[in-house]
Amino acid sequence: MTTAMPSREQIANAADLDFDAKRSDKDVSICIEASPAGVTVRVDYIGTLGSIPAAVERLRSAGILDLVSAARPATATAPLGGTPARTPTQRVEPVYQPDGSACCPVHKRVLKEGKYGLYCSAKDRETDEYCNLKFKD
Ligand SMILES: [Zn+2]
Repeated sequence: MTTAMPSREQIANAADLDFDAKRSDKDVSICIEASPAGVTVRVDYIGTLGSIPAAVERLRSAGILDLVSAARPATATAPLGGTPARTPTQRVEPVYQPDGSACCPVHKRVLKEGKYGLYCSAKDRETDEYCNLKFKD
C-alpha cells in the first residue's frame, strides 16, 4: 500500500517538531526596532526568542516606546478623512444641502470624495473644463 500522505499513525509516532522548545533554548541575535517617522529605536541583543516580549516590556517601562510614539507624525492621529494638503491650495467652503451633503457653490453639484479630498465633477459650460475648485473638508 502506497500513499503520498502520511497515515494518522505515522503522524502520531513522528517526533515532535516542538518549535518553541528547540528555539527558545537557543540564543539568537535579536533586533527590536521601533521606527515611526523621525525616531528609530533599535535594540540588538543576543537572547532567546521567548525573551522578546520581556524585552519589549522593558523598553516600554523605560519609557522608550512612549518616546517613539510621541515622535509619531501628527497625521497619524488626524481625524479620518483628513487629507494632508501637499501644496497650499486656496480652498473654498462648500455649500451644504439640508441632507448634509457638500455641494459646489458654483455648479451646485454634490461633491465627491476623491484621492485628494472633495471635488466637483461638473464641467464648466463656458470653458469646457472640469471644475477645478478645491474644497475644505
Ligand atoms: Zn464646481
